[in-house]
Amino acid sequence: MDRKRIEDGVREIIGGVGEDPARPGLQRTPARVRRAYEEMLSGYEVDVKKLINGALYEIEHNDMVVVSEIEFYSLCEHHMLPFFGSAYIAYIPNGWVIGLSKIPRMVDVFTHRLQLQERMTGQIADCIMETIHPQGVAVVTSGQHLCSMMRGVKKNKIRLVSSCMRGVFEKDEELQARFFSQIRLP
Ligand SMILES: [Zn+2]
Repeated sequence: MDRKRIEDGVREIIGGVGEDPARPGLQRTPARVRRAYEEMLSGYEVDVKKLINGALYEIEHNDMVVVSEIEFYSLCEHHMLPFFGSAYIAYIPNGWVIGLSKIPRMVDVFTHRLQLQERMTGQIADCIMETIHPQGVAVVTSGQHLCSMMRGVKKNKIRLVSSCMRGVFEKDEELQARFFSQIRLP
């Protein structure tokens, strides 16, 4: 990341809204914002394959695995404002399962970018297909967007629910129903 460019940009915004970037309370704001962005947008440079390296375990029974309520925080690419919520993931293994802690970390890789919730949901599903090679995967995300809460329509209770089905989940409605019966969307 280009630290100087980010800090210069933040200083421009502060000046642009009519504030004084040199006043004591704002002097160190560009650096603080830059550090926050470095953390919130850290998903670009992560090698997902490396991340799950060594965390695949062989299993005998290929029963559905459901990981529920994976908290996420992301930034919408339209307003660079946060959207946040939970992700729900199910997959039907193909002889292998992945360590539980790796799935939330995989989610973080795609949420820590400038995103559209719908695209992010698909990217998570595709990533699981490509790394674990399960028979199928289902991903549902439910998110609240500050850009529609603080501004625009100002509707605080709107949640965007996005889903993505891959492999055996794509056409098997019974399987989809089993997944939805096991999760409780807010
Ligand atoms: Zn937005």
